Amino acid sequence: METLMLKGAPVRDAVFSVLKGKVASAPRRPGLAVVLVGDDPASAVYVSHKGKGCDEVGFHHVTHCLPASTPQAQVLSLIAQLNTDPAIDGILVQLPLPKGIDQEAVLLAVDPRKDVDGFHPVNLGLLVAGKPRFVPCTPKGILRLLEHYGITTAGRTVAVVGRSVIVGRPVSLLLSLKGAMGDATVTMCHSATRNLAAVTASCDIVIAAMGVPRALGADAIGEGAVVIDVGINRIADPTRTGGQRLVGDVDEAAVRGRAGALTPVPGGIGPMTIAMLLENTWEAFARAEGVDA
Ligand code: NDP
Repeated sequence: METLMLKGAPVRDAVFSVLKGKVASAPRRPGLAVVLVGDDPASAVYVSHKGKGCDEVGFHHVTHCLPASTPQAQVLSLIAQLNTDPAIDGILVQLPLPKGIDQEAVLLAVDPRKDVDGFHPVNLGLLVAGKPRFVPCTPKGILRLLEHYGITTAGRTVAVVGRSVIVGRPVSLLLSLKGAMGDATVTMCHSATRNLAAVTASCDIVIAAMGVPRALGADAIGEGAVVIDVGINRIADPTRTGGQRLVGDVDEAAVRGRAGALTPVPGGIGPMTIAMLLENTWEAFARAEGVDA
């Protein structure tokens, strides 16, 4: 079977193009503030991609880089300042935060109306209630990618592997909501799931968000299944500059030819996450300015 590769770039480009058009007639430029604490190299790369995305669509953006030794009170005070800054519509705190900073306290400090990552308990609660406001970017991106490629979820079985608040849990909630791109029968899997491969192999759609390199092989994927590989894992590769390369949570080589469709790593869900972040920032801006979302 030929496996359709579900690339994120064309969908991201389409989202960017819509946003560019909206910015052109906006009363001011939407603004995104990114707070980066510490010197995690992967986080620095993600933040620079977010900045480039903002430049591409014409958003104002500012990145606050703080050393890992920054006291929590200083991070909270920066967020308080951004909460009241009229030029800033969205605030993103790049995770993970260094040890010694209470992640929950920091996320709780972000004004829910500027919480474009959708991690504030108020926004997570709205999602649980079936009335989402800011939907976390990666889960939203997964649904948008499926929609773009004409893959429906209603009545289908979906295995979500991973239950983090960032990916697994919100995507399972979204898929179980009533309506278009929902109405799925969702099985949530995690490290205590027994016979994981048997569970995932029985599902029409598998979403892998585990953070374990190439954990799902051919035995974990049913013939013709749609596979969304969210994982971004760095593994050693002496043939590459820097001695590393990125792989997903799915063993792409083993699954190609068996899956009906598969997201590549990199180039699948990654571009979607950034596109949805900018879309959420536009939504925050539109609410603040009273213009059409
Ligand atoms: P977390 O570490 O927060 O969560 C991982 C989840 O996977 C946990 O629920 C864990 O279970 C589960 N898990 C781990 N190992 C196994 C296993 N062997 N079998 C079954 N379940 C397992 O990770 P995140 O959700 O933050 O991220 C997951 C991956 O997605 C990472 O590679 C990350 O880099 C990537 N990512 C990619 C994004 C993108 O834009 N493409 C955005 C965000 C994340 P338990 O709860 O029982 O411990």
